[in-house]
Amino acid sequence: MKIAVFPGSFDPITVGHVDIVKRCIPLFDKIIIAVGVNSQKKYLFPLEKRMEWMHKVFENESKIEVSSYHGLTINYCKEVSANYILRGIRSAADFEYEKTIAHLNHTMNIDIETILILSPPEYSSISSTIVREIILGKGDVSKFVPQEIASEMHL
Ligand code: ADP
Repeated sequence: MKIAVFPGSFDPITVGHVDIVKRCIPLFDKIIIAVGVNSQKKYLFPLEKRMEWMHKVFENESKIEVSSYHGLTINYCKEVSANYILRGIRSAADFEYEKTIAHLNHTMNIDIETILILSPPEYSSISSTIVREIILGKGDVSKFVPQEIASEMHL
């Protein structure tokens, strides 16, 4: 069984994240969207909310599971028997960052492959950081987040 983990903060989920997941569905038997819990990081939205939104967006996709995890992504992969890590690439800066992490992960566990998926041009400027700024500024995020949860995305 081909199992992939898509790790991230998803604070909050954007149309860019959804696009990556949807395009990977035909490639794997199961994709676990793993919402990271990092005690060093300050999040705008609580873990429960970030997971609830994921559940709502993917409730009709039988191959998708939503979960949370602490610690290293490769340890979590081992725990859930996943051999693939999915990450999205929007820019050269994303690539450099992801390359470093992928090399380190591969050095630590040779059985886990990182799969990098390019975002389409129309989504390559969308980030959770930008969406948070718009929410904090009381702007309209409906073009950047999945439509089924857009109305709930406020503080
Ligand atoms: P992290 O804090 O781990 O970077 P994010 O939630 O910001 O978590 O991102 C999770 C993954 O989704 C990363 O691989 C990131 O590059 C990717 N990603 C974020 N926004 C987009 C987008 N607009 N298009 C494609 N991939 C994206």
